[in-house]
Amino acid sequence: MIYRKEKNNISLKEINKKNILKIVIDVGQISRIDISRQLKISRPTTSAYIGELIEEGLVEEIGKSDSTSSGGKKAVLLQFRVRAGYILGVMIGVKNIRIALTDLGSNIIEIIKIPTEEWLGPDAVIDKLVKNIKEIIKKSRINKEEIIGVGIGATGLVDSKKGLVIFSPNLNGWNNIKLKEIIERKIGLPAFIENECRVQAIAEKKYGLAKNIKNFVCVETGTGIGTGVFIDNRLVSGDKGMAGEVGHIITNLAGNRVCHCGNTGCLETLCSTSYLLEDIADEMKKSGSSSRSSKSGLKLEDLYDLYNQGNEIATVNIDKNAEYLGIGISNTIKMFNPELIIIHGEVIKFGEKYLKKVKESVSKNTFPEVKDDYNIQFSEMGDNVGVIGAASIVFNNIFDLDSSSVAGHYIVKKIIT
Ligand SMILES: [Zn+2]
Repeated sequence: MIYRKEKNNISLKEINKKNILKIVIDVGQISRIDISRQLKISRPTTSAYIGELIEEGLVEEIGKSDSTSSGGKKAVLLQFRVRAGYILGVMIGVKNIRIALTDLGSNIIEIIKIPTEEWLGPDAVIDKLVKNIKEIIKKSRINKEEIIGVGIGATGLVDSKKGLVIFSPNLNGWNNIKLKEIIERKIGLPAFIENECRVQAIAEKKYGLAKNIKNFVCVETGTGIGTGVFIDNRLVSGDKGMAGEVGHIITNLAGNRVCHCGNTGCLETLCSTSYLLEDIADEMKKSGSSSRSSKSGLKLEDLYDLYNQGNEIATVNIDKNAEYLGIGISNTIKMFNPELIIIHGEVIKFGEKYLKKVKESVSKNTFPEVKDDYNIQFSEMGDNVGVIGAASIVFNNIFDLDSSSVAGHYIVKKIIT
């Protein structure tokens, strides 16, 4: 079955059905009587609308509750039917692309990870992406008609309204790429795109540490540094999708290392993991202390080991990296005053020792009066956080259940199957 949004002639009944659906999705498991109470709609009307939602395949009954209602009968519980449709969630990172097929609850059914090989340029990377999307659909044996859309998180400056990757400092040749249009044309499904860090923040808000947090910042670490910001429960994108580019805040005026964006002195030049790797490999080579760096080239995985083992060159550089990341975080704290900062990406594997250094640096560089008021944590969502967030943007766009103005109401409608 296919769901689509319709904007015209939304009736009160449709608004009520949408509100019922929103409660069922938000609460998880709920009875008809509790929905009727919460929405202040009569019980027979609530039951009739729920009957329609069950027929449309969006809501299902899941047995009786443990407690009894006021009439003494155990109420039948309802829940959102996550298998009412499927979503493709894609994350285009600097090193890897992940493609997942999920249900409407972002549960992963199939997932593949392929190298981005960004040096090939956008055409080749997108062709590879399209080929793999088609393959994952085939492998899953799910009808394409049951997939409601493709959500894509991409590293770089993304204008989600225009469906454009404006510029991606770490992907070769990605300038003004009409990614939404290309994917819709080549795959034949609605596509939605968003910046990588904002996709992670969306995932944290829906499923992760930020579920009940109004103001928070997700910090992506790795080759690039970026943030996804929620203020008062709203994702901050800025006019053209450039908000949160903390990695390119000029932090080192004396710096002469050229950033991936072309400027010098960006925070990214101080705490990108690719520069960290370069610095440690250089120092080891100079000191002649590592056989690893001279043989096959030092890898990030080696750094995790060296840091844990207390290797001196690695420790000095990685601690410095943590300090710079802390400076970046303290800058975002001053800008946005978040309750929670969630760190994502490659530095998580450096572990608690690294996190402690980041926290020390934040304390040192933030207003003394509030220096310890911030909760800074590593993400607990794992490597698939991006595809889960990307799938969530499709769900949020198609179902659009948070829209509260009547003029802005959309309703999910089943069309001919
Ligand atoms: Zn930069």
